[in-house]
Amino acid sequence: MTRVQPEVILDFDYTLFDTARFKRALAQALVPHGVGAQRFKVLYPKAVERRGRRYRYSTEKHLQLLRREVPTLSLVAGRRSLGAVIERSREFLYPEARAFLQRLRRHGFRLVLVTRGDPTFQLRKVRYSFIRHLFYSVVSAPGHKAATLRSVLRKGRPTYFVTDHSGELADVHRVFPWVFPILKLGGHGHVNHARTLKLPAFRNLKNIEAYINRNEKKEG
Ligand SMILES: [Mg+2]
Repeated sequence: MTRVQPEVILDFDYTLFDTARFKRALAQALVPHGVGAQRFKVLYPKAVERRGRRYRYSTEKHLQLLRREVPTLSLVAGRRSLGAVIERSREFLYPEARAFLQRLRRHGFRLVLVTRGDPTFQLRKVRYSFIRHLFYSVVSAPGHKAATLRSVLRKGRPTYFVTDHSGELADVHRVFPWVFPILKLGGHGHVNHARTLKLPAFRNLKNIEAYINRNEKKEG
């Protein structure tokens, strides 16, 4: 009997995308408008809308908060400068990300991108990363990842879930024990947390790919 096409579900920020570097570029883009990078950084968490387990950040909200503190900041000009950074999203993909996705596809995996946050903002970053075509589907929602995955997952399909967020990974692992969890280190994930949870954790995408291929050989 042929096996169902296996699927790899990937997180975006800090898994494929160097969000720390991207945030620094956003901050730098407003310096010519009289907004110090430090001020941008301080107001960042305030621009995040959190309701229950929802998480929603957008540059629009951030700009409006900055405008209150820097009255000379023009929203139109600020929007244009931040938009230019978002349109350069491709530059903020981890250098190995595109080839990693391409190889997984070539090896017969179905790829799904699941990103948490403000869908308009998240999908703009994905769009300008020019990787959309590599995915079977892209899902963006502000809600908790395990809840979002519920609409994506099909039991009976071998599925891997890769994220940098150890808490999120632990939740998914608990709710969907049949999904193979993989932690990408370097973002929100903590190696000690992964060790405590006994979840596989890797520093780079190449090792994640090797792990998936090894596991497929074993399972297939
Ligand atoms: Mg992430």
